[in-house]
Amino acid sequence: MLNFKWQHLILSLACILLIIACNSSSPNIQPDKPVIKVATDPTFIPFEFQTPQGEVVGFDIDLMKAIAQAANFTVNFESLPFDGMISTLQAQKVDAAISGITITPERLKTIAFSRPYFKAGLAITVREDNKDIKNFQSLQGRQIGVQIGSTGADFAKTIPNAKIITFNSGPDFFQDLINGNVEAVISDAFATLYAINNGKIKGIKIVADLLTEEYYGIATPQKSPYLDKINQGIATILSNGKYKQIYQQWFQYEPPQLPR
Ligand code: GLN
Repeated sequence: MLNFKWQHLILSLACILLIIACNSSSPNIQPDKPVIKVATDPTFIPFEFQTPQGEVVGFDIDLMKAIAQAANFTVNFESLPFDGMISTLQAQKVDAAISGITITPERLKTIAFSRPYFKAGLAITVREDNKDIKNFQSLQGRQIGVQIGSTGADFAKTIPNAKIITFNSGPDFFQDLINGNVEAVISDAFATLYAINNGKIKGIKIVADLLTEEYYGIATPQKSPYLDKINQGIATILSNGKYKQIYQQWFQYEPPQLPR
């Protein structure tokens, strides 16, 4: 009788141990979704900006959320000034950044980029009543406003004798353009066009064609463990129509073809 009880007890114990062992190595248990910390500077309408209630919204924000959903990770946005973004990525203080960041050979020396997700370019913006700045040549010797650390700032350095005035963010240089403190601004055409067309800024106009052809990418530190996942997410939303839907929601027309 006692013998049987002992046998029973040992058998039960063995079963419990087996169940614990099986559960802890079970492949069916879903590991938690990784949480990726993504920096953005919400002063770049319509890519990232703040609503009056303080919510960060925009094309990039919707896109990043869709990429995360497609590639099974969670995004935690963090607001950072654009100028400090590259060095913050380099120091690995954030996992990624989405902020209308142009992929450039110079930046690729210190950080990595996803495949291109947006076709962009620089434009010259002047006050509506300006009649003499029409193209690159007519910028010589002028006072030009740019955003510090941007591709527009790099471009302005190539203009002979230009007096370059740097600003922390887009909205600031447009105010100074309207006030007459700068004669022209060199910045991302899409963002400027959107602001003009949607009545966010009045009294300015874009002149000439695109000065450059640029592509935005999602930036990460070099050798990021998340870059593959991000690229995979971009590929998914490009092929399943989600990219097109978000693009049309913000820009109202067909998205252009993107290189790989
Ligand atoms: N596309 C520009 C750059 O990468 C500016 C981006 C921005 O102002 N957010 O420099």
